Amino acid sequence: METLAPSSFSVSSTGFYGGFGGAFIPEMLYPNVEELRRNYLAIIADPAFQDEFWQLLTDYVGRPTPLFLARRLSEYIGATIYLKREDLCHTGAHKVNNTIGQILVAQRLGKKRIVAETGAGQHGVATATVCALMNLECIVYMGAIDIERQKPNVDRMRMLGATVVPARSGSQTLKDATNEAMRHWINNPEDTHYIIGSVVGPHPYPDMVARFQSVISEEIRRQLFAKTGRETPDYMVACVGGGSNAAGAFYHYLDEPEVRLVAAEAAGHGVTTGHSAATTALGKPGVLHGSRTILMQTEDGQVIEPYSISAGLDYPGIGPLHAHLFNSGRGEFYPITDGEALAAGFQLSRLEGIIPALESAHALAALPKMNLQPNNVVVVCLSGRGDKDLSTYVKYLP
Ligand SMILES: *Cc1c(COP(=O)(O)O)cnc(C)c1O
Repeated sequence: METLAPSSFSVSSTGFYGGFGGAFIPEMLYPNVEELRRNYLAIIADPAFQDEFWQLLTDYVGRPTPLFLARRLSEYIGATIYLKREDLCHTGAHKVNNTIGQILVAQRLGKKRIVAETGAGQHGVATATVCALMNLECIVYMGAIDIERQKPNVDRMRMLGATVVPARSGSQTLKDATNEAMRHWINNPEDTHYIIGSVVGPHPYPDMVARFQSVISEEIRRQLFAKTGRETPDYMVACVGGGSNAAGAFYHYLDEPEVRLVAAEAAGHGVTTGHSAATTALGKPGVLHGSRTILMQTEDGQVIEPYSISAGLDYPGIGPLHAHLFNSGRGEFYPITDGEALAAGFQLSRLEGIIPALESAHALAALPKMNLQPNNVVVVCLSGRGDKDLSTYVKYLP
């Protein structure tokens, strides 16, 4: 990975992006997080680590993923639209970029067991995959409701040898699975590494995950230059659950204000309906899963249950980098409803022969809202493929 000079958008030595981030963790978690914080930068910088990481991204994940000029979509939208095809990664989404990186870190820390949380099941599958590859035990916590609605991915994890544990507290979705995975880690500090699946959690996770996902924008710069003669698009668009595919897509453009960074968040039935996961539209600053960020909460600070048709975006917060991008105005956030995402998913399928993940469909649905001009060059991060969502899509087939 190319490293960047420190900027107002890179993490501070104490783990902050502006006023967001840090490590707000129970004392019992401190030794684990501190061990990781002390070691992650040196481990990642080691040339042997870099060699193995890149080898696996190339030969196992299938990188670089293509940057595809979507001609019919471009014509429909009225601007030049490129799709960064993370849907073509092994296991079907960008998540594996991070799990490859983290399992290599875990090995170097001498860990024997991996614990993870998952929402859509994509992170669970990506984690179970690398655990099989590296012969580490794998325990995945998943909300009981998500287990129901993402059955193919649950079967995949089991096929790969992982133990899937249902989280039955709260809304029985991603945030509850995250709580239970953290609890497991607290109880097994010595031999377990917790692979967080997005740019969330206590420092150093958001920074570490963003570095692993930054391969996305590193490739885009090169690929866009080869196709257009410039490395910078006018807009970089990505969906934000916790924000890891967006962080990866934005990473090498953070300090170039001429590239407008657009984040699509899940509005569910609509921002004002009480069934939404539009964090920046509805949230306020607070602490969630170990970092200070923006989250959906009641007046007295209770986390509000999020809702989205897309399990990967059904999260009440966003990573601290994104809270900073929102707060500083560097990022532009669009709430996208279930209906808008479904329509964009059908549209891409029929215009380009690519069935996007419902999460990625939220990013596509932002395009008509952006007031694009004919000479604009736009890159959309197509974070994953829609196979896992087919049973949802077919219910709404136009
Ligand atoms: C998990 C997931 C997301 C949301 O996670 P981020 O950390 O926000 O990227 C988006 N798209 C797909 C396909 C996913 O699997």
